Amino acid sequence: MQIRSIAIVGGGTAGWLAASMLARALPGSGTVITLIESPDIGTVGVGEATIPPIIDLLRFLSINEEDFVRHTNATYKLGIKFTDWMAPGHTYWHPFGTFGAAINRRPFHHCWHKARASGVALRFNDYSVCAALADEGKFQFPANNPDSAASGLRYALHFDAILVARYLRSYAERLGVIRIEGNVVGATMRANGFLDALQFSDGSTHQADLYIDCSGFRGILIEKVLGTGYLDWTAVLPCDRAVAFPTSLTLPRPPYTHSLARSAGWQWRIPLQHRVGNGYVYSSAHCTDEQALADLLGTTGGKPLAEPRFLRFVTGRRKLYWNRNCVALGLASGFLEPLESTSIHLVTSGLYHLLEHFPDLGFDQTNIDSYNRELIEECERVRDFIVLHYCLTRRDDAPLWRYCQSMPLPDTLRERIELYKGTGRIRIRAGELFTDLSWFYIFEGLGVRPASYDPLLDVIPEGKLREILVSMARATVAATKGAPSHDSYFKAGCQT
Ligand SMILES: Cc1cc2nc3c(=O)[nH]c(=O)nc-3n(C[C@H](O)[C@H](O)[C@H](O)COP(=O)(O)OP(=O)(O)OC[C@H]3O[C@@H](n4cnc5c(N)ncnc54)[C@H](O)[C@@H]3O)c2cc1C
Repeated sequence: MQIRSIAIVGGGTAGWLAASMLARALPGSGTVITLIESPDIGTVGVGEATIPPIIDLLRFLSINEEDFVRHTNATYKLGIKFTDWMAPGHTYWHPFGTFGAAINRRPFHHCWHKARASGVALRFNDYSVCAALADEGKFQFPANNPDSAASGLRYALHFDAILVARYLRSYAERLGVIRIEGNVVGATMRANGFLDALQFSDGSTHQADLYIDCSGFRGILIEKVLGTGYLDWTAVLPCDRAVAFPTSLTLPRPPYTHSLARSAGWQWRIPLQHRVGNGYVYSSAHCTDEQALADLLGTTGGKPLAEPRFLRFVTGRRKLYWNRNCVALGLASGFLEPLESTSIHLVTSGLYHLLEHFPDLGFDQTNIDSYNRELIEECERVRDFIVLHYCLTRRDDAPLWRYCQSMPLPDTLRERIELYKGTGRIRIRAGELFTDLSWFYIFEGLGVRPASYDPLLDVIPEGKLREILVSMARATVAATKGAPSHDSYFKAGCQT
């Protein structure tokens, strides 16, 4: 009853991640893993910003982080800087890592609200090592000393997506993954509706027990063959286009992703060792492709290094991620715009969940249902988090931003916003990617001030609270003052 063969369709980041993680997790099982890549259809070629679980992924794969950073031209990321999102001229941070520390076991953001209600002048960066470092263009690794504020630092990577796929390919091939070039045009089916064999444009076929669809937006197996269906979330995330191109390196390289709100969407700036990744994610209802390109060209700074690439997408998800003997990952499973750099993480999460639900040839339906339920829940909470960035804006200078303030929100998000506005509480469910801290950063950054804070904090006298805040701010300064510049990590020659 053991799965003996797995066929992965697609050789983009999702495909090679799937090949790497499965090959790593199933060594010596006798399961043959084959990856099929089209020689004619390119990869999406973007996907350069990540979140801290990328570091855990490297550990899971036993990949040496330094080696990976060198070969993918990666830089370090301490968070995201949001400019012009609440209102033109306004900036806020979504840093990684800790923010202050719990007092009396109450989350620090309640102390923050209490202190503000008491008239204490607060500086955000005094309580976030990541934001303090990022603001100064510095970087350091987390401190081993638990007494240092820098022990709560977390970081992620910016990397070259093409080099990552190349790196993972060589990793997976070393572990025995077989690579085939071919254009999949369809699949034959078994009587029970399961996929039987892939059909190639040259008439050949390839059979496997389990299929992983990583074919990008096409979803050749999950949609074209199995007709799984798609839920469209454009009503709450109206951006449906992107234009992207790299520009020449500009120094210094900031240790963060810069996200700048624009009239019809937002622009990213991602510093790599050898160049800068730029893109404009926009709503086609509010901006033409020509206008988007002109806007982006006018703001990137460096010299364009390649022709602009236009991408179209429909934000949403497949109704099922796992349908019969086919699991969809990456763009084949759906798409949430890259505002919080979540797509690659969701591929990884899909794979960890697959390993936890690894099937046998019986393909137990309750197992498949459990997989779908957990990932749908995770994806929908990420969707809510991304929508939060839009719906709380106060910008009224463009139709897109006015729309975002009045669009109907998912109940799950509406309830979370109401709870926060009334009480300052953020209740996170098990398995959610973004913590209460991340939600706090966006609420706070977008100027939402709750009506109250946790009343249990009133047992702390105001003077004592001030004392604690001063000592936390000092600890942040102590943890960051000797840190080297982010650029100093990349003096050696880079790949091009
Ligand atoms: C504008 C934009 C910005 C993004 N930014 C980020 C970011 O900052 N961070 C992040 O985490 N994610 C980001 N993403 C998402 C990220 O790029 C993808 O999740 C990631 O690259 C995985 O893509 P993929 O492998 O699913 O698809 P693709 O890269 O499109 O790869 C598809 C593969 O399938 C193959 N294929 C397709 N059809 C067939 C066929 N019929 N037969 C055989 N092979 C076939 C192709 O040859 C290719 O190898 C972004 C996406 C977009 C659109």
